[in-house]
Amino acid sequence: MTKWLWTGIKTGKKTTAYPVTQETACGVSPGRPAVTEFDDEDKARAVVNRCPAGALHSIKNRVEINRDNCLNCLRCGSNDIIDDRSSGFDSICSDSTGSGSIGSASVDSDSICSDSTGSAFVDSDFTGADSKDSGSMRWENSYEWAEFNKTGHSLRKSFSGSLNIRILDAGACGACMGEIKQITGPYYNIHRLGFFITPTPRMADILLVAGPLTEHMVDALKKTWDAMPAPRRVIAVGTCAISGGPFGSGFASKKGIEQVVPVDIKIPGCPPPPLAIIHALLLASGRLKKIPGQEKTIPAQEKTIPVQENKIADKGKMLAEQKENKTGQKKNKAGQETKIAEKGKNIK
Ligand code: SF4
Ligand code: SF4
Repeated sequence: MTKWLWTGIKTGKKTTAYPVTQETACGVSPGRPAVTEFDDEDKARAVVNRCPAGALHSIKNRVEINRDNCLNCLRCGSNDIIDDRSSGFDSICSDSTGSGSIGSASVDSDSICSDSTGSAFVDSDFTGADSKDSGSMRWENSYEWAEFNKTGHSLRKSFSGSLNIRILDAGACGACMGEIKQITGPYYNIHRLGFFITPTPRMADILLVAGPLTEHMVDALKKTWDAMPAPRRVIAVGTCAISGGPFGSGFASKKGIEQVVPVDIKIPGCPPPPLAIIHALLLASGRLKKIPGQEKTIPAQEKTIPVQENKIADKGKMLAEQKENKTGQKKNKAGQETKIAEKGKNIK
């Protein structure tokens, strides 16, 4: 016990400060490709052909991404990775040293930095920050990946302080569930935000689903959704839950959970990092607002500050007016007293 206490004092607080401040620690996100403009159309077409998931498409020399299909395989972000789409997923392997290889080309383990959280983040050398010339996609080291579905919206304000979350594994490969598991750990610690995992759907406000939805889980998903009290929201975690990913649609699974339940928020990624899942929960609770026309989200509190300032200003005005009125009343009283005194003099 003393040893634990001493270690705690020595190492200090390790929990992420997100969303109060943006997380900058190494290893919190693998990053993802961003829209890129290449020098010529051939380079754009070549990078599109590298994608094993068909998530990229080019318009002349510009390459755009369909995030619902992206598997975060990093193929489009590195020159070290061979330009061979036909090799598919079978050629992706990793050895016992932990370094990964795709096809015949190996990924330099030095270029992937990992920390105690177990995630990997890609540095700018590896991703080709100067991607125009290198023939690889521009890479963003972001983690705020969650976005509202077309019909999705956040819960009412009364839910913003606390949420109960029911997690459902609808046939996930294990990686998405591994990332979800991390959000309750000491580093991400969602309890500090008032978010709690519940084992029963009857107490849940949010349904967090990972996996493409296997046929055997269809009934379980329907029953869970039906048992949840309104208002309720569904978050699809990972490419599988959004679009079926590498599994669906097939004889054993559907093409994402939207075929059975309405999805409010989707988190692209294969798997999405824990901070992306926390970002989705913050959106669902209404604690983060999306700025129209911008990728970024802002704390909802920022919007309310001007209103509070207005109220304070109005109160200040009211007090000043009350003071003026009082001074005026005093003057009137003094004037009346003088008049009475003059009247008394005249009578005398
Ligand atoms: S990361 Fe992989 S799946 Fe995603 S767009 Fe690039 S090549 Fe395609
Ligand atoms: S999205 Fe990727 S990590 Fe998540 S369940 Fe599907 S294959 Fe696995």
